[in-house]
Amino acid sequence: MSPPTPEASRYQQLRGHLAYLKLADAAEALPAVLDTAKTEKLSTTATLERLLRIEVQATEARRVAGRLRFANLPTAATLDDFDYDAQPGVDPALIADLTSNRYLDTATNILLIGPPGVGKTMLAVGLARRAAEAGHRTYFTNAADLAARCHRAAIEGRWATTMRFYAGPACLIIDELGYLPLPGEAASALFQVVNQRYLKSSIIMTTNRGITSWGEVLGDTTVAAALLDRLLHRSVVIDINGDSYRLRDHNARSDTLRRAIRPTTS
Ligand code: ADP
Ligand code: MG
Repeated sequence: MSPPTPEASRYQQLRGHLAYLKLADAAEALPAVLDTAKTEKLSTTATLERLLRIEVQATEARRVAGRLRFANLPTAATLDDFDYDAQPGVDPALIADLTSNRYLDTATNILLIGPPGVGKTMLAVGLARRAAEAGHRTYFTNAADLAARCHRAAIEGRWATTMRFYAGPACLIIDELGYLPLPGEAASALFQVVNQRYLKSSIIMTTNRGITSWGEVLGDTTVAAALLDRLLHRSVVIDINGDSYRLRDHNARSDTLRRAIRPTTS
């Protein structure tokens, strides 16, 4: 067997460097990139740029996937699927503006208010996805889960750690405030979460209850007033008063069914 040419052993060294630096995607792409460099007569700079771009893109994709896993989004909904014609109360220009994620830089909160089925969770998930994709640490929860987790933390002596956890994300989504009544202790946990994020980082909150009934939801008008004060000070409020999208589908199905079973009169 003839000894390897200097070029072949340099190639093996290069593969070794890439493996040592754990640049697995660049290592895998190396033969193809070198082939392209030869056929397209790429400069050394262009070849290196092409090789490292592959590694950068793969790293970025892994980071986005990791952030999305952490974000704990309950559905695969995206803002592109939102049907604005079905919900005239939602301003497409406002949602488009929010997708820039600039609200996160100013720790502005977003409050989505409306009856069940109007798309509050869908919009919250869509905005959360945009935030995570753009590199912001994002976490989705709902009011009942947050209350249960804080309750356990208090019992198990992990209160401070849990509060730090809820302070961490740049974008915290608290879905479904108002569906279940929050006992006093839960309302005060929610207040602490909101208060420690106040003017520092954003909350997207959804609720089926108008803010005038938050005293009832939180079982305490003083806590409700203090919480709303923090939440609304710097906020965008999206009040959705349209019809339920779920029921819209349901009504359409019922109509079809009624037409189908109606006896034909001829
Ligand atoms: P809410 O949180 O207000 O109760 P959801 O966001 O859970 O409502 O919406 C209920 C269902 O209807 C979901 O499957 C959602 O994807 C769908 N939906 C609601 N509004 C729209 C809309 N404007 N366009 C498309 N789908 C919608
Ligand atoms: Mg919802």
